[in-house]
Amino acid sequence: MAGPDHEPGEGEPEPTPLLELRGVTKVYGEGEAAVHALRGINLRIRRGEFVAILGTSGCGKSTAMNILGALDMPTKGHFLLEGIAVEELHADVLASLRNRRFGFIFQGFNLLRRTAAIDNVELPMIYAGVPRQERVERAAAALAMVGLSGREHARPNELSGGQQQRVAIARALVTRPEVILADEPTGNLDSKTSAEIMDLLYGLNHDSGQTIIMVTHDAEIADYAARHVVFRDGQVIADGPHTRGEAAP
Ligand code: ADP
Ligand code: MG
Repeated sequence: MAGPDHEPGEGEPEPTPLLELRGVTKVYGEGEAAVHALRGINLRIRRGEFVAILGTSGCGKSTAMNILGALDMPTKGHFLLEGIAVEELHADVLASLRNRRFGFIFQGFNLLRRTAAIDNVELPMIYAGVPRQERVERAAAALAMVGLSGREHARPNELSGGQQQRVAIARALVTRPEVILADEPTGNLDSKTSAEIMDLLYGLNHDSGQTIIMVTHDAEIADYAARHVVFRDGQVIADGPHTRGEAAP
């Protein structure tokens, strides 16, 4: 059997990647105001990878991430999920796919501020139609997994930044998504808390084989990922394996 690290030999067909961007361009606005955020991106991501997308502010990282999470569509080119062109899917199929197959973690946590941690974590399961008792059990288990047992009924404004991001990670994981998409997940956290959050994400990938795609502009944060994709001005300028502790490209 071909394992996740199996490199196909000559003449052997490459397996269909989990996610693929094929010739993706993204233009915001029109005419003189048009912003060319992505200029022909090709990217193939296999199940079980931990990929960091790197580059300076404004180079198109979040735009690419939103397309990879089916939150936005390319202007030209294709986003393929297991070989299926996502733009051809019906809107409700797309919405259900996004909810079931992707978990999102954002820089600003995006929690409901007046709502208890456990209720924040239950939200995606409400959309997915999970029965109430199962929701409560799974949300409590997800909070325990990120080290927040006993804080289920705390509201986000009663939690530290690191704890809030843990709630967001629990919310992203609770639907058991195939892919976690994290956009600057430690962007609002101090370096010690950032390291704790990164240890958590690293463990999910390393121990559980969770596919993770993470946007960052920070080389120390990117160090946790096993593959670095570097963007500049809407293009991929480098893409290759990364070993922890080695200098970023
Ligand atoms: P990054 O995440 O690497 O900082 P973004 O993908 O957010 O970069 O942005 C890439 C470019 O597209 C930037 O020039 C940004 O100003 C522009 N941009 C992003 N989102 C929008 C939008 N909704 N409307 C217009 N321009 C946008
Ligand atoms: Mg961004």
